[in-house]
Amino acid sequence: MKNPMILLKDQTSTELALALADLALPDRLVRQLHAAAVRRGATEIPFELPTVSPKVLQKVRERATIPRLKLLDKIVSPQDGFAKYLFEGAGEGRFEAVRIPLLHRPDDLKYVVCVSSQVGCALGCVFCATGRMGFQRNLATWEIVDQVTQIQMDSEHPVRGVVFMGMGEPMLNYDRVIQAARIFSEPCGMAINAKAITISTVGVVPGIRRFTAERQPYRLIVSLTSARTEQRQSLLPIERVYPLPELLAAVREYHAVTRKRVTFAWTVLAGINTGREDARALAELTEGLPILLDLIDVNDPTGQFRRPSTEEANAFRDALREELNMPVQRRYSGGQDIHGACGMLAAVES
Ligand code: SF4
Repeated sequence: MKNPMILLKDQTSTELALALADLALPDRLVRQLHAAAVRRGATEIPFELPTVSPKVLQKVRERATIPRLKLLDKIVSPQDGFAKYLFEGAGEGRFEAVRIPLLHRPDDLKYVVCVSSQVGCALGCVFCATGRMGFQRNLATWEIVDQVTQIQMDSEHPVRGVVFMGMGEPMLNYDRVIQAARIFSEPCGMAINAKAITISTVGVVPGIRRFTAERQPYRLIVSLTSARTEQRQSLLPIERVYPLPELLAAVREYHAVTRKRVTFAWTVLAGINTGREDARALAELTEGLPILLDLIDVNDPTGQFRRPSTEEANAFRDALREELNMPVQRRYSGGQDIHGACGMLAAVES
């Protein structure tokens, strides 16, 4: 049986060298091919390269190819410069990525890209547009990598960070997500610092445990949103599968092994999870654990969930400061006007 084609954005340069070992290619050529596909967005393996015989290149072309997503739509927010890209890959369904501008340092303009790891999502968090779509499929590694490659090719400043916070639960597509993170951080690929690659989870405990056991160098964010069991069950159905005590045990283990401060994300829902009792429950749950709390305003186009008023938000922050005594920050969730903000990705054309 004929071997399947090697997909360049599916593999690290080391794996590519192994897959093509029988051709005895010089290391430099393998790294060149890898960088051309991943970093420079080449669409095909070249026919000519100085110092490489056309025969060798022909053999590479017979064995390997550069897959590419189809870009269906792009929209840029006139308000804050966030850009949303709509893609189609090799399988069913459409998915989105968001380019986030980090323009506060004029001498170091750069972007972070928020990528999707699945088409849709099975976890059904009640305030999330992706959750309302249901699950369609896992993305392949190259489909994750090419979101960043294409956005980089479309951008005037470099992409210096990747967050797995787009469509899907990254820990439910673990192998491909980690492989994509490896490719992003390879020096001869995109060379994105591993610490600038963030993998988020809404609380898939086996994924967190594996991430810890494998000592993955990437950042981890756990979306908590509630520290009270009944409330969390009503907001995040995963709470019924991996309840808070089990989740916190996995997070404590992560901290014990890595000694890293744990970042929790908290989607702020007016009148629901912003009370003194919520702050107190969080303090009790995380006692003794160094944490950073990211507050993210909800973005719910259906209007079922609202953002808090300034008074409510300030009162919650005060309560958190008093009860928690840990750093709390409000994360700007931009691109609302283009439906590109957290919780709004639903793969529809603008
Ligand atoms: Fe899935 Fe994340 Fe949306 Fe929850 S918030 S439904 S895990 S995409």
